[in-house]
Amino acid sequence: MKKIVSVVGARPNFIKLAPIHKLINSNEYTNRFEHIIIHTGQHYDYKLSEIFFREFSLPQANYNLDVGSSTPCIQIAEMLKKLEHLFHSNKIDLVLVYGDTNSTFAGALSATKSSINVAHIESGLRSFNREMPEEVNRILTDHISNFLYPPTKTAINNLNSENIRGEMVNAGDISVEIIREAETKIRNSSILENLDLEPNEYYLFTLHRSENTNFESLQSVINIFKNISDLKIVFPIHPRTVNLLNQLNLYKKLQKCTNVKLIEPVGYMDFIKLLKCAIKVVTDSGGTQKEAYLLKTPCITIRNNTEWVETIEEGWNILTGIDVEKTTDAIMNWNPQKPSTQNPIFGKGMTSNIIVNHLKRVLDE
Ligand code: UDP
Repeated sequence: MKKIVSVVGARPNFIKLAPIHKLINSNEYTNRFEHIIIHTGQHYDYKLSEIFFREFSLPQANYNLDVGSSTPCIQIAEMLKKLEHLFHSNKIDLVLVYGDTNSTFAGALSATKSSINVAHIESGLRSFNREMPEEVNRILTDHISNFLYPPTKTAINNLNSENIRGEMVNAGDISVEIIREAETKIRNSSILENLDLEPNEYYLFTLHRSENTNFESLQSVINIFKNISDLKIVFPIHPRTVNLLNQLNLYKKLQKCTNVKLIEPVGYMDFIKLLKCAIKVVTDSGGTQKEAYLLKTPCITIRNNTEWVETIEEGWNILTGIDVEKTTDAIMNWNPQKPSTQNPIFGKGMTSNIIVNHLKRVLDE
């Protein structure tokens, strides 16, 4: 029996973990693998962490490192110290990491330093903006991973152009199967009724990236809301954004925008229901850009670059930065035609199968 460890710590990690855990624990693999989940504690709020374990029926993590929030270096250092200890006291065959968070990079580095093979799910994505903390996490993780699962053609090209050392497997994006399953479950969500909303009468808004949470950007967001004061906005607000708005004395100003329904972050099924039924989504989230594509909801990305370039090429996503005029104009006037069929830019929904099959092969060798 081979021991596979998944290191996770933040909301987007838990969502990607779900199908992998389910498959590793299915009858097909049950006598081959033991799956150990390590939660670093990077996200610890119920609505950013435990809610996803419950919704996706994930077991409680085998270990919680409780690192909590801190500066990035202290957070990563704490993770490294605790992970190294765990890796040395358990005989582990492979470490799986997901996406681009500090937990992703810490998991990959401590595994490599403990001579354990690393496999990176969602590798090869690049924004080509080194000021973005996630970009550094991705590049470093990719270059020390033994096995890489890029989700798109662009990601494969990025890895090729960086002469990556590890073995690459074209796996598609794990979101396809996650969204497919979510679409069968969202009819049980009562989020629209709870918020007194009808489908197609509101815009969904999310914002949490560090480059967008400085005073100037947050002030621009408030100005965008003022420009569209007759449109309904639903804004599930990340605790990080709330803290910064408070620190910068902007939260009260935001609350004065009466067209904006400020709500706490919601669980996955409620979020997907909100996204599917929105007129458009305005976001700086990576995951939400692809989910919007898969759900055929037009996406306005308030960043200057994106890793998900295929969604732009397909005409379903546009970049406006946090530019007040461009964003206001896109919200009011950009109306892409809904495609009757979509190109499978994220693969065919077999990603977890491709990955776990590949792991079986390399671990059997
Ligand atoms: N999400 C959620 N509830 C919310 C907001 C987002 O479940 O209130 C999900 C969303 O569907 C996506 C993921 O969280 O899958 C995105 O996480 P985040 O924006 O924190 O990270 P990123 O994708 O930018 O790395």
